[in-house]
Amino acid sequence: MKKKILCLLMVLSTMASLCAACNREKTSENTSSDPSINLPVFEQPAPPKIVLSDDEPEPTRRKDALKDLAPQVDENGMTISQWPSITLSGDPDEIIEIQEDCFYEGERFFIFFQNGVKIRGDVAEHLDRIMYGLEDLLQLSYERDPVNSDINWRYLYFDNAFTDVNRDLAKVNILIIKNPGDGAIEWAGENVAVLFEEDVFDPEHDLETAYHELAHVLQLRQASPFGRVLAEGIAAYAEYQMCIRENRPAWDTAGYLTDRRNPSIYDESLIYTDPVGTFMHDTEIDGGHNDWEYQYGIRFVTFLVETYGVEVFDKMCRISLEFTYEEARTDMIIRVIKEATSDDVFEQFAAWLPEGWERFGEEYEEYMKQFDPMLQMRDSTQVPA
Ligand SMILES: [Zn+2]
Repeated sequence: MKKKILCLLMVLSTMASLCAACNREKTSENTSSDPSINLPVFEQPAPPKIVLSDDEPEPTRRKDALKDLAPQVDENGMTISQWPSITLSGDPDEIIEIQEDCFYEGERFFIFFQNGVKIRGDVAEHLDRIMYGLEDLLQLSYERDPVNSDINWRYLYFDNAFTDVNRDLAKVNILIIKNPGDGAIEWAGENVAVLFEEDVFDPEHDLETAYHELAHVLQLRQASPFGRVLAEGIAAYAEYQMCIRENRPAWDTAGYLTDRRNPSIYDESLIYTDPVGTFMHDTEIDGGHNDWEYQYGIRFVTFLVETYGVEVFDKMCRISLEFTYEEARTDMIIRVIKEATSDDVFEQFAAWLPEGWERFGEEYEEYMKQFDPMLQMRDSTQVPA
């Protein structure tokens, strides 16, 4: 049974005004509930129940009752879930306020929307394009079988709904939820990317988090755990490169350029004093989540691609699948990197870093000039020698 979701249609006059209007609206949405929007209240759908009749033998009754719960099939043999679903118009000017938890099925993903989030009619097109873009960029495929298992995102965000949707994990689960405002950040697993509504609401200005989390999914879907330095490095690299491909500002990347002066966040000397790669230390096991993982990661991954080409991602993923877990995780990660590149890869990285990263910074600044009035102003005030 498909249940239609109430849509709040707001047609804006032009694309030029669209962007400005979105920004203003986004700001007010994020702070508190907007009293100018009065929406009808919908009851949540009742969870499916097994009803047993008394006059049939137990096995028959249970079988019949389970049959009612079984997914229905449409004329094309497609499964239809009993959970609320939504159709999307593809229209960027349509703003939809989701009235109950529901899902959308795309060719390669399911999007699950939390009650109350605001989205646009073309959100699926953006996510679809991003997935293809990331595959092309990293030369990896979402089609590969998941390596490990599903994460219980249904329980975390949807009160255990959608139990029969995408059970075979053939497609990627993308969750669009309200920002809980408690400091929690977006995250990803091999089958799921968790995004806040503001990450996809204004695509003209902000898709960085969507690039980042969907890059994680792409890598995690086909590799043993890489440790956070390499995993965050791949995601941060992909995020920046996707910004360039889609000609959008890469504000997050600025944070990776400046922290060299703060050793508590990033101690560059480790790369020179310990070239066998201890900075790759697998913090997933005992170190928690630290900012410096992004700093080391994006530098190392940028170096890897410049030196060994994008094929290095596929190589590392395939080699990682041979992990036996008989050695320490950090040792395994280092071995995967060396096998995919060369034995002296960390020495090469240390030699590349001073000039390589300087060049990265210059190229970044040049790219960002089109979005950043401060950078443009600095340029125009320089007096030619
Ligand atoms: Zn990340």
